[in-house]
Amino acid sequence: MRPGPPQIIACPHCQALARYLTLLSGNTIGARLWTDGKRLAPMFPRPPAVVRCHRCRQCYWLAAAPEIGLLERRGEDGDPAWQSARPVREPNEAEYYRAIRGGLAAGAAQEQRLRTLAWWRHNDAFRELPGPRPARVAAAPAYWRKNLEALAALLDEAIEDERLMKAEALRELGQFAASRLLLDRVTAEKYAFAVSQIGALCAAGDVQVRELQLVDR
Ligand SMILES: [Zn+2]
Repeated sequence: MRPGPPQIIACPHCQALARYLTLLSGNTIGARLWTDGKRLAPMFPRPPAVVRCHRCRQCYWLAAAPEIGLLERRGEDGDPAWQSARPVREPNEAEYYRAIRGGLAAGAAQEQRLRTLAWWRHNDAFRELPGPRPARVAAAPAYWRKNLEALAALLDEAIEDERLMKAEALRELGQFAASRLLLDRVTAEKYAFAVSQIGALCAAGDVQVRELQLVDR
């Protein structure tokens, strides 16, 4: 992995500066994938798609933030405002929900993206848990369930990868039979490893997010 110069951006709401690291090159060595579709590649770190401004506390899409410039290590970019720009921060789960209520999604596709990111943010706390855990879907917070139900309704069963994502959402909601029916309709070879592992979790009555074993890929 070769990091590039930090990119300086401005908050679209209040113009506060923030920064994120660019990459000159990266790779997927050591990448990990979970049943909910989240992938972490330590050698290919990417900035968050959504950022919460440290000053005005509003959320914005990183892609919508004006790019102010690249903070080169050498040269005459001695602007102290650039030098002191804070690293971008991804919203937490509650902040995602506030952003959705506040109208950050311009349409169904963006709402689906935001609800997916909020779901992943919640699941982040459970990614490293070892061993089997009992189904605790009844104890899951209502706001989490509401978000995941809304996401499941937005996912398009006619599209293979969204069908797989919906099957996982239904599994985490404890709707194992409905999840199994969708899994049976995911036939792409590239998803076979995920279908078998999510299917096994359905059979076990397991609602937790789990790391996928990539050996079959
Ligand atoms: Zn701001």
